[in-house]
Amino acid sequence: MKIARHTVASIEYRLTDDSGELIDSSEGHAPLQYVHGTEGIVPGLESALEGKGAGDVVDVRVAPEQGYGERDEGQIHAVPRKQFPPGEIKVGMQVQARGQGGDVVLTVFKVEGDVVHLDANHPLAGVPLNFHVKVVDVRTATAEEIAHGHVHGPGGHHHH
Ligand code: ZN
Repeated sequence: MKIARHTVASIEYRLTDDSGELIDSSEGHAPLQYVHGTEGIVPGLESALEGKGAGDVVDVRVAPEQGYGERDEGQIHAVPRKQFPPGEIKVGMQVQARGQGGDVVLTVFKVEGDVVHLDANHPLAGVPLNFHVKVVDVRTATAEEIAHGHVHGPGGHHHH
C-alpha cells in the first residue's frame, strides 16, 4: 500500500537544521503515525511522502514556507513585567496566552528591566527542515480517524 490521502502512515524520522544539528527524532520512541492529507505533519514533508510505501527512505529539505512558516516580526511583543505572575522569568521560558484563534504559546527571548520581550512565532519558523524519513507502515485510515484528523489506537490518540 502506498501513502495517499486518508491513509495512516507510520514513519521513523530524524530532523536536522542546515548545520546538521539534531532538532527532533523518533529514535527511542514508537514511530510517528499521522493521517495523510489532514495536515497532521508539515506540508513539505507530507507532499514528499505521497506515493511512498513501507521500507522507502526519503530525504527532503523543507523550506520554511512549506514548514512552520516564515518568521513574522509582528509576532514580537513587549509586555510589562507586572502583567506576569510573581516568580522568575527567564529567557527561553514559554508562556501561554489567550489569542483570537485560541491559546498561543509565546517564548521569552529577552528580559530588559521591567519589560519582557515575547516571541509568538513557532520556534521552528524561518528554519529550513532537513528530514530523513523511513516509512515503516501504511494502512487505510478509519472514517473516525479521518474525521478527527489523528490516529486512534496503539501509539495514537485515546479518547476518554
Ligand atoms: Zn479522535
